[in-house]
Amino acid sequence: MHPKTPLPDYFSNCTHCGFCLAVCPTYKLTGDENNSPRGRLRLWSEEAAGRLPQDKWTDFYTDECVGCLACETACPAQVPYGELFEHTRHDHVSAGRSKPPLALRLAAAAVARPAWFNLALLPARFIRSLGLSIHRFLFKGRPALLQSTAAYARELMQQHRPTGPRVAFLTGCLMEAAFREINFATVRVLIENNVQVVIPEDQTCCGAFQEHSGLAGAEPLRAQNRRAFLPLDVDAVVSNSSGCGYSLGKSLAPERPVRDVLAFLGELGPVRRERAGSRARLYVDLPCHLVHGQKAAGIPQNVLDATGYSWELAPNARDCCGSGGVYNIQKPENARAILAGKSAFLNEAEGAPVILGTSNHVCMMQWHSAGATGLVTRPYEVSHIIQLLDPGAGFAVRATAPASAPC
Ligand code: SF4
Ligand code: SF4
Repeated sequence: MHPKTPLPDYFSNCTHCGFCLAVCPTYKLTGDENNSPRGRLRLWSEEAAGRLPQDKWTDFYTDECVGCLACETACPAQVPYGELFEHTRHDHVSAGRSKPPLALRLAAAAVARPAWFNLALLPARFIRSLGLSIHRFLFKGRPALLQSTAAYARELMQQHRPTGPRVAFLTGCLMEAAFREINFATVRVLIENNVQVVIPEDQTCCGAFQEHSGLAGAEPLRAQNRRAFLPLDVDAVVSNSSGCGYSLGKSLAPERPVRDVLAFLGELGPVRRERAGSRARLYVDLPCHLVHGQKAAGIPQNVLDATGYSWELAPNARDCCGSGGVYNIQKPENARAILAGKSAFLNEAEGAPVILGTSNHVCMMQWHSAGATGLVTRPYEVSHIIQLLDPGAGFAVRATAPASAPC
C-alpha cells in the first residue's frame, strides 16, 4: 500500500479485549502494554486522531514490532493489524521518523535488480558451494554458482516431460541469489510428481523486503509481477517461501491465488522418500507468514509423512522465531531473545541427526543462527521441508500420473 493512502478507520474495530497480548512476542518479552498489538494500535489511533503529538516513543514501539501477524490470527474483531502496521511503518520511514540501517537500504535497491543481486551474491553462493558457513545466517547448502533455476527447470522439463498440472513458480530474490539449491530441489520435487514447471523470467522480488523494512519501492515490483504472472495459462502459482508467497498473493489478488508449494503437493500426494532404519528426527516449525499471513492450517501431514522421517511439530511451532523478514537485522537483540526461548528444546531433542524443518528461507537463516551464536550447543541440521522430499539429481519420473488434479 502506498504510504500516503489514507486508511479506513480500522482502529475503532479494536474492542481492547487483549486476546492478542498472549501471542505477541514483544509483549511476552517485555510485559509492556505499549509493546503489544493493542498498545501499538492505541498509539497510532491517538496520533491519527490528533490527541497525541508525534512522539519518539511511538516510533520506538512501532519499530519494536516483528510483523509476525500472530495478533491478526488471535483477534476476534478481525482488526487488520498487518495492513495498519505496514502503512504506519512506511509513513514513519518516508517521514524520516524511522531510518532502516544502510545495509537494508542498499539491499532494498539491489533486490529490485535481480541480475545485479545475483551477481552481488555470487561470493556467498561460492562460499556455500564449498560447504562452508561463515556467517550466522548462512546455513549450509550447495547452490549452483551460475545456472539459474529457470535454466535448470527448462532442462529438467525437456528431460522428463511431465504431463500433470502446470504451475508458475516464484523463485524469489534472496532465495535465488543465495539459496538456490532449495529452488532446484523444488523443481525436482514438482517434476518428479508429474507437475509441469513454468518459471517466468521477467518475475522479480515480491516486495516483501520493502514491506518489512518500510522502504519505498514495493509497488513497481508488484506491478512487474502482475505482468509476469497474471497472463500465464497455468493451474496455480506456487512459492516455496511462505513470506514471499504471502506478499506475491497480495499482488496477484484477486485474480490469482498463490499456493504454498507444500500445500499444493499435499493435494497431489507426493512421492515418499524411504529412510528405513533412520534414527533421525524431524522437528517442524511453522513460519508466521504461512499460518498467520497465508492463514494456512499448517504443512500437510501427508507431505511431512512423505519425507520418510519420524517427525513432530516443534514446541510452540506457531510462535514467531524472531526472524520477521528483516527484524533480526534491525533488532538483533530482540530477535535473539525471541529465538532463545523457541530454540531451547533443540539442546535436549532426541534424534540422530536432529533436523529442524521449516518452509521459509529467512526462518532457516534465523534457526541456523541459534547454533552459530551459541543458543543451541549440540549439532542439528536446518532444512526446508521441500529438500526432505528431494529425489536428488538422478531421480526417475513416477511411472503413473497422480490420480487427482489439484485445486
Ligand atoms: S505483528 Fe507480532 S510482534 Fe507485532 S504486534 Fe502483532 S503479535 Fe506483536
Ligand atoms: S485481539 Fe483484536 S480487538 Fe482484542 S485488543 Fe487485540 S487488536 Fe484489539
